[in-house]
Amino acid sequence: MCEFCLKHGEGKKWYLQAKNYSDDLLSDLRRRKFIEGFLTSNGLTRDVGRLDRLDKVPRSIRGLISRMISRRMKAVHYGQVLPIEDVERIFGMMKSIVRTACICRHVTLGKEKRYCYGVSLSPDGGELAKIVRGLDKSFLNGPDTAGQEVMSKEQALATFREHEQEGLCHTVWTFRAPFIGGICNCDRADCLAMRCTVTQGVPVMFRAEYVAEVDPDACVGCRQCMRVCQFGAMAYSASNHKVAIDQQWCYGCGICRSACQKNAIRLRERAGVQAAAHRW
Ligand code: SF4
Ligand code: SF4
Repeated sequence: MCEFCLKHGEGKKWYLQAKNYSDDLLSDLRRRKFIEGFLTSNGLTRDVGRLDRLDKVPRSIRGLISRMISRRMKAVHYGQVLPIEDVERIFGMMKSIVRTACICRHVTLGKEKRYCYGVSLSPDGGELAKIVRGLDKSFLNGPDTAGQEVMSKEQALATFREHEQEGLCHTVWTFRAPFIGGICNCDRADCLAMRCTVTQGVPVMFRAEYVAEVDPDACVGCRQCMRVCQFGAMAYSASNHKVAIDQQWCYGCGICRSACQKNAIRLRERAGVQAAAHRW
């Protein structure tokens, strides 16, 4: 169990607790203000510049900065990787799902990419959608960025399966913990959280509550799975012509599983895998 499961989930998966999606949490003015600032300020653009500069910082100071950033992000905007079955469980609890443009891609690509999904226990996106509708979104590019697409659970799940085929990793996000406002579909090139966590080694999201493993008897060594692992957790062995997963580095996203035509990959609960149980 990650730290948030203990703190916000009473020892169960924190993102499967309905209370963490409650509109009541949006009566907290600090939280509302944070959401408004997050979506309308230049904060993310500034963060990209800071991330790029981090490379030049000496290693000793880098560790300190990394811990400070992680601590701050745990309070305001922290994520966790999710496999598709947990996305489905979350959708199962919700009354509404609203698809919208990804602000990370807006900053990094200058393009509209509709990879983010607001989730709510209330109809029509609930209080969160009301906050977003009230914002000036003219800073975003493209004709549809201000539009919020209300989707059925089935439609949303189908688009998540498409995102998975694109190799995108599902992640769930807080807006001032423990409130959960959305699920995104991330890749290492465009997503600031992935760049921060994986490329720069400054964690702003937990690994999934799962890790993957390959059944060597079913694996035919085609390496399709390796093409989509964004975390460098897979290796091919020329001696036995199989792929194996280094569970210490596996984020448990399950994207490799979708790419495997031989059903050779499965996810296991992280807590039951000694090599990964304490790697977050
Ligand atoms: S995609 Fe499946 S069969 Fe192909 S190498 Fe990966 S685990 Fe093995
Ligand atoms: S090995 Fe599979 S489950 Fe693990 S991080 Fe890579 S793609 Fe995700």
